[in-house]
This record gives sequence, C-alpha cells and structure tokens, in this order.
Amino acid sequence: MSSARSAADCFAPDADMLRADVAVTRLLDAVECRAAIETVPLRAALGRVLAEPVVSPVTVPPRDNSAVDGFAVNAEDLPAEGVVLLPVATRIAAGQIATSALARGTAARIFTGAPLPPGADTVIPQEACRVEGGQVALPGGIRRGANRRPAGEDVRAGAVVLEAGRRLRPQDLGLAATVGRASLPVRARLRAAVFSTGDELREPGGELPDGAIYDSNRFTVSALLERLGAAVTDLGILPDRADAVHAGLRDAARDHDLIVTSGGVSTGEEDHVKAAVQALGGLHFWRVAVRPGRPLAVGIAEGVPFVGLPGNPVAAMATLLMLVRPMVLKLMGAELGLPVPWRVPAAFAFKKRPGRREWLRARLVAAPDGSVRAERFPNEGSGILTSMVWAGGLVDLPEDLPAVAEGDVVDFLPFEALLG
Ligand code: AMP
Ligand code: MG
Repeated sequence: MSSARSAADCFAPDADMLRADVAVTRLLDAVECRAAIETVPLRAALGRVLAEPVVSPVTVPPRDNSAVDGFAVNAEDLPAEGVVLLPVATRIAAGQIATSALARGTAARIFTGAPLPPGADTVIPQEACRVEGGQVALPGGIRRGANRRPAGEDVRAGAVVLEAGRRLRPQDLGLAATVGRASLPVRARLRAAVFSTGDELREPGGELPDGAIYDSNRFTVSALLERLGAAVTDLGILPDRADAVHAGLRDAARDHDLIVTSGGVSTGEEDHVKAAVQALGGLHFWRVAVRPGRPLAVGIAEGVPFVGLPGNPVAAMATLLMLVRPMVLKLMGAELGLPVPWRVPAAFAFKKRPGRREWLRARLVAAPDGSVRAERFPNEGSGILTSMVWAGGLVDLPEDLPAVAEGDVVDFLPFEALLG
C-alpha cells in the first residue's frame, strides 16, 4: 500500500493543539479528487458536482425581443409628449419572425417574447395604448429601447455559463437547458462509509438496557454527508473491541472513497479506532483548538481517507460542518467556496477562552423594530443535541476574541449555508 502510506504522510506532524484553519488546510492537503466523470440527464443532475464547464453554443435571447404585450415602434415616431396615432402594420406573436422590416410611421402589434421586427427599437405596453380601428394611439415620453430585451442580454454564444465544481441547483439546471444541454458531465458520487463506535450504543427502535444510549451520530453524520452530496453506506455500530474495529474499517475501505466514524478517538483505553487506522495505513490524532469538538482523527485506511469525529453528538456535527466539510467537497470535486457569514449583532453576552475558536449554537430573532439579532442556546454542553435542533446555525467566534458583549456584531453561519 505505498500510495496509502504516501497519502498518510501528507499530514504534517501533530502539534499539541491545532488551530481550526490549520486543521482544515491539512485535511484539504491530504486528499485528491479521484471521482470519475459520468454523464447524466439534466433531470438527474440536481445536487451533483459539475465536472466540466458548460460553454453556451447559443445566444440567449437569440434576437432582440419584446418584454411585454404591446406595440413595437421606432422611437423616432413617438412624440416627446401628447399622443400619436399610427397604423398597425403587422402582428408578431412569440415564436414568429417578422416577414419584413417595420416601415417608419407604423406600429407592430407584438407579444411578450416575440422578436422585434427590424426597424423597431421600442415597445409600448398595451395598457398605455388605445386601439382605434386599424390604428393605435401611443403615448409620448417613452424612452428609446423601453421594453426591448436585447439579443444576448442573458448569454452570449461562447460564454462559460456554469463553472466546473459547481454543485448543481435548480437554476443551474435551468440555465443548462437554456443553452440547449440535455445532459451534463458530473462527478461520480462520493461513496462514504459511516460507523458509530461504542459498546454503550444501541439501535433506535430496540431495547435500551441500563447504561446504554441510542446511537444518534450515525443519523446526523450520514444525513450531513448526504446533504453534501455523498452516497452514504450506513455500516452500523462498531463495538469497543480492537479486532472488530480493525475488520470493520478494513472491509469498508474495499468499496468506499471515505470512511467516517464517530466516537472512540479520545484518549480513553476503550478507544480502538486510532490503533486500527494506524495499522491499516496511517493516522494523525489532532487536538483542535475548537469548542465544541477538539479530538479529531484523520488518516488513511487501506488507501481510503479516514476521519474519526468526536463522539459527543454536538461535537461530531460541528467538526464535520466546520472542519471536515471542505475536505469532503474536495473529494467530491466540488468548489470549496466558504459560506459568507451573516454579520449580526449578538443578543447575548459571552465570555470565551482566548486562543480557542468557539462555535455557539445560535438562531436569529427579529426584534419588534424589525432588526435581526443572534441569540444563543444557554447550554454549551457538547452532548446537548436538543441545542442543535433549537439552533438555526452557528456563531463563529475567532481565536483572539476575548468576549462578546450584547450588541457586538458576530459571524452567524446558517446550517443551510454550510450544507447547500
Ligand atoms: P467517545 O469519544 O467514544 O468517548 O464518546 C464521547 C461521548 O459521546 C460519550 O458520552 C459517548 O457515549 C457519546 N457518543 C459516542 N458516540 C455516540 C453516538 N453514535 N451517538 C450518541 N452518543 C455518542
Ligand atoms: Mg466511545
């Protein structure tokens, strides 16, 4: 497994405590996108990662056309003020082409989307016009080019309309269709294997003996990865036994592009994940200067990138969203574009530990005057999963910040932006 070893070596030596941004960079540097490219019909491309840029072969709209139902004229024939009476020379509906140029001193009845006849440069909406027999009374004071949509105002032939790496949204599919594409080259879905670890964990729906808890991380972690676009295999719960963890990870590496576990990566003697990954390739165990989160194991198991998230449910989610997400996107071939935080005043005061990046569970509330502020969940415990359900996102507090006073502007990252 020489390739596995060299990939594992991409991780720089462990520092005592890693800054969050350094952890993100190291995670990114450790992986390459190897996802194959496949072509899928537009209807199947939602959420997929575009593998090649889309270049438009056509101009959109193809011709100058009308933005309204009304009458097309040459602006020279309109008075500066008052009304002019012009004969209606022709009628052009959407999908038709004028058979001849519009003669000066005449108007064309025209409908939304219909190409303007040569000679016409302005359209007056029908609401402003009065038809009298074969003539139309048109108001003056209309500027040249009003209600004209110029050819190519949306797309010029030869332009790149969608960049490679884009995770395709509904409007992206619409634009691909607009330029005539019926299918798109996309990256093969990232195959992610998800495990939970711990003898205390039980399947929801089953018995709950004394001392046990239901496994929640597998559901949050799998769903987060799915929302990012991965195809997730749920591989269940690994017991706290070295041989079982080793065998589970080895088997998962056979047909996955990424293995994600939660729990079992702190320093307790029941934590077998680190040893197993070490034996299967290589591992770095990081203590990241973040809260919630902290322990994070990263490595290569049988050539496959491995991430061991902390076991505490809030820490597992926060580290996946804030530290591991860019790496997952890179593996998927997607652009990384970090979400732009919303800058909002805090509705709370908070004292934090300097040198540590902190993510507060927060949600936005509107004050009676309409202004928006971020309120935080009062309990910072990293096992309090109800806090994540309460929250709409995370307030991201930088390392060097000593405290937040009520009214201070903070960075709020909505969950939707971290997943979209
Ligand atoms: P660990 O890192 O394995 O020591 O786990 C830290 C804490 O997170 C312990 O309280 C575990 O019971 C809890 N935990 C670990 N995995 C899960 C999981 N999949 N679902 C819910 N809680 C978990
Ligand atoms: Mg455990």
